[in-house]
Amino acid sequence: MLEIKDLRVSFHTYSGEVQAVRGVNLKLEDEDTLAIVGESGCGKSVTAQTIMRLHNMENTEIKSGEILLDGTDLLKISEKEMQNIRGNKIGMIFQEPMTALNPTMTVGNQIAEVLRRHKRGKKLSRKEARERAVELLQMVKLPNPEQRVDQFPHEFSGGQLQRVVIAMAMACSPQVLIADEPTTALDVTVQAQILNLMKEMQREKKVSIIIITHDLGVVASIAKKVAVMYGGIVVEMGTVEDIFYRSEHPYTWGLLDSISRLSKQKGEPLKSIEGTPPDLVKPPVGCPFADRCEYAMKVCKDHLPPETELSESHRCRCWMLDPDCPVKLGRRKV
Ligand code: SF4
Repeated sequence: MLEIKDLRVSFHTYSGEVQAVRGVNLKLEDEDTLAIVGESGCGKSVTAQTIMRLHNMENTEIKSGEILLDGTDLLKISEKEMQNIRGNKIGMIFQEPMTALNPTMTVGNQIAEVLRRHKRGKKLSRKEARERAVELLQMVKLPNPEQRVDQFPHEFSGGQLQRVVIAMAMACSPQVLIADEPTTALDVTVQAQILNLMKEMQREKKVSIIIITHDLGVVASIAKKVAVMYGGIVVEMGTVEDIFYRSEHPYTWGLLDSISRLSKQKGEPLKSIEGTPPDLVKPPVGCPFADRCEYAMKVCKDHLPPETELSESHRCRCWMLDPDCPVKLGRRKV
């Protein structure tokens, strides 16, 4: 339904051209949940924002690629056509619900504005839009929606605001919902409620979800497929089982080892991945993880590893998967 092919995106800055996304291929099927994971600066949010064409085009350059939604290339259509896609076909939830809302408008008016602006076909009267806003607040399980619809964002808690933002994103029944770190600003119990709400929305409204996160706990709880990004490329992609139980990329192993587990002994420190991500103004010609990888070989620094297809669902970029590589590791089952 949504397919990203060889996407390359750069930002022009005073320090030079930042090659933020360097050839990403992803596919989202109907009712899929795809998690894009990785550290800050790996290109995951840029990929999501490019789907919505939210960049400031004065300093952004789409170097190549296609983003096909039901066969239409979103990178080729006009801004006017794109405005119809945003909200109607693709909804977005941002990390900070407070900054996603207008503090001077009631939440009801903000939802009504989305409905009036994006709903194709029938024009809604003020009264109808308010009634629909109440229904949407009810759908996201906000208590007393009749009263709350007339309140301002500062009268809501963080978790309640994220419910409002989800209601706005779902207002026009989009096919795809993009959630950029939707639970990062929330405390743990509220995080679980928001993830459950998103799963419920998916079941009821048959929406496909792309969730951007650095939190593997979030991935385990919601995702069906996972793309692990590093240095602007997807280094491993698979089902959630492929990534958690059969991962083959040393960076994915590092991410998995850094999760806190109940099996850890008291006082046992959490493992971290030593070093820093590559500078994408001068991205490495070889494997972007080579400077931090304990298995790095000469070939890793000189050549980007090709994508190896490990199964129908699972692919990975690492020279250790080359048939001629003398080092044979492979992830133990966890
Ligand atoms: Fe490590 Fe080389 Fe594999 Fe990159 S290609 S992850 S440097 S072993």
